Amino acid sequence: MSGFQSPRGLRDIREPDASAFAWAEEHAWSAALAAGYARIQLPVAEDSALFERAIGGTSDVVTKELYRLAVRSEESTPLALRPEVTAGVVRAYLQHGMRSEPQPVRLVTVAELFRHDRPQKGRYRQFTQFDIEAIGDAGSGIDIEVIELGTAYLRSVGLRDIEVHLNSVGCPTCRPGYLVVLAKHFAAVADRLSPVDQARLEENPLRLLDSKDEVAVAHAKGAPRFVEHLCADCAEHDRAVREGLSITGVTVVDAPHLVRGLDYYTKTAWEFLLPGEQGQQGALGGGGRYDGLVELLGGPATPGVGFAIGIDRVVLALQERGLAPAPQRPPAVVVCGIEPGSVGMRIAIASELRAAGVSARADVSTRKIGKQLESAVRDTAIAVIIVEPDGSLSLRDLAAGSQAEPGARAMVVSAAAQLARTQGGQ
Ligand code: AMP
Repeated sequence: MSGFQSPRGLRDIREPDASAFAWAEEHAWSAALAAGYARIQLPVAEDSALFERAIGGTSDVVTKELYRLAVRSEESTPLALRPEVTAGVVRAYLQHGMRSEPQPVRLVTVAELFRHDRPQKGRYRQFTQFDIEAIGDAGSGIDIEVIELGTAYLRSVGLRDIEVHLNSVGCPTCRPGYLVVLAKHFAAVADRLSPVDQARLEENPLRLLDSKDEVAVAHAKGAPRFVEHLCADCAEHDRAVREGLSITGVTVVDAPHLVRGLDYYTKTAWEFLLPGEQGQQGALGGGGRYDGLVELLGGPATPGVGFAIGIDRVVLALQERGLAPAPQRPPAVVVCGIEPGSVGMRIAIASELRAAGVSARADVSTRKIGKQLESAVRDTAIAVIIVEPDGSLSLRDLAAGSQAEPGARAMVVSAAAQLARTQGGQ
């Protein structure tokens, strides 16, 4: 064994987790593609200024958690590994002139993200998100579409009781007024707040609502609700989103103090939570409207909305409930033989079976045939084809323990495929 270990917080994903991950990711792509979202694959690194601008230079994600790459002399821009998807999607939207396409532009990606966070269960330094974004539509309808899509996805993988914790975080018209009443509320306990929260009270009192500190948490319970301080436009948007969602059958839980960790959200903000789970730590995903972000990144004023669902947390939730899919079964047919000269033929036959839709592998060794059969049995194969020294083939049905007389290649291959299909459901 070498002395190398995977870096802290960066994991190897092996079976059975690997199959559950792949399954959850495939469901994510197909749920979004079926709803008309186009695939996009973004680079894992971007200009670090993109994240600083989008997420906010004072947020934890930028100040503490950003993986900055060492600047090489031939490059002029410092790069960082992406800690979230939306900024990159908006950058691509502007760079490729997607504004001239029919709006909204609906995009989906499944992406690995990097945050230098303290690793713990459900919190890793590299993780994967299913992310969808709809850019260019200010109406409440697209919010309803996006929230329903995320809910339907989580239900489709088996998390049928998923809830949407919903709030509105207003807009530049009504937020300043709410921040004043919120600051006034927390000012009553200002001297008991932690130093970090005291700074938040000065700079951005909204962040006090997701503080983990005891005093702030206790005092947040009686905090004023943003929904009661929305401007007419935001209030109507919020009403329409709730009304629409009630018709789609999504389970909505009112979350008057929900604020998302990133500063660019406006109006609709939500989290996908299983019953009994709380706060951002327990959320499977979250999303929101970001009407100011495109402009913030140098484009024309353009609304947008999207969500990110953490695949790692979806897999954990499925495993905790015993709902994770079983790993891919080993090949149904194994093609054996003992002559070194028959290896090519064994591989060709296995490939022919796979082309016909039957999982198969060749035993490429020259071990005794008994050993090869033993390993096929251990792999729960259904049938074994043995390439005989004279080039003819024999078929062995492992369940029945029977072996047919050697026969011609085409006949034996098709009989093996038949056996795999009837007994293995292939
Ligand atoms: P955020 O981008 O912080 O709003 O997170 C959206 C979702 O991504 C969360 O609800 C989690 O499911 C997932 N997520 C965020 N951070 C991590 C992390 N460090 N490790 C694993 N999953 C994460």
